Amino acid sequence: MKQSVKMIVGNWKMNGLSADLVEATALADSLSGSAPAARVALCPAATLIARMAWALNGRPIEIGGQDCHTAAAGAHTGSISAAMLKDAGAGLVIVGHSERRQACGETDAIVAAKFEAAVAAGLEPIVCVGETLAERETGQAVALVTVQVAASVPATAAGQAFAVAYEPVWAIGTGLTPTLEQIAEVHAAIRAALVARLGDGGHRVPILYGGSVNPGNAAEILRVAEVGGALVGGASLKADSFLAIIRAAE
Ligand code: PEP
Repeated sequence: MKQSVKMIVGNWKMNGLSADLVEATALADSLSGSAPAARVALCPAATLIARMAWALNGRPIEIGGQDCHTAAAGAHTGSISAAMLKDAGAGLVIVGHSERRQACGETDAIVAAKFEAAVAAGLEPIVCVGETLAERETGQAVALVTVQVAASVPATAAGQAFAVAYEPVWAIGTGLTPTLEQIAEVHAAIRAALVARLGDGGHRVPILYGGSVNPGNAAEILRVAEVGGALVGGASLKADSFLAIIRAAE
């Protein structure tokens, strides 16, 4: 069974102060008029999660974290556990974003451990995978992403609620996107990798596309086979552009 409701997730990255909560409440006000046909979530910086959860209580927008530690608690100065995110009001968490894989040296094994920590705390992980430009140009994109899925999604994930996000590294924040055919090819490979890893349950995992999604290209990307939604960075920071992407998913 394929997921039919699209999942639209905003990743605010290291942007946003308390004054910017107005964007989240403006979005909620717009969505409240007619309930969104998409599943909508915002992942602000950790400092905003509790306040955003409070401001959006009862509104049709879920809250997520952008990362969590592999450990449940302990001597990890500066880190945040999945249980802390959950306690603050998050229901989801992004793991393995390429910015963390690159800047923090996160391997597939670390991402898989974060996945398990998130699930143990009652969070729904969104596992990011994607090739670099060099890997794309040397024809390795499909093979690389297939390996990333197999190694970043724990074998224990069958039956657990989670999503995968295909985010080509070269498309993030650049205004560049793969062709629709390239997106379809990689999403089909991710689906096959999920089914190989998890059996039939692999068919139910939403596969999001991320990388320079904007109001102008969202509709055509969201119509591609096996695209179950979008992970949106820059265009999620303003309510009007994120709303346009949500509406494109309906
Ligand atoms: C992201 O960083 O997850 C992302 C998709 O960013 P952008 O939409 O800005 O390319």
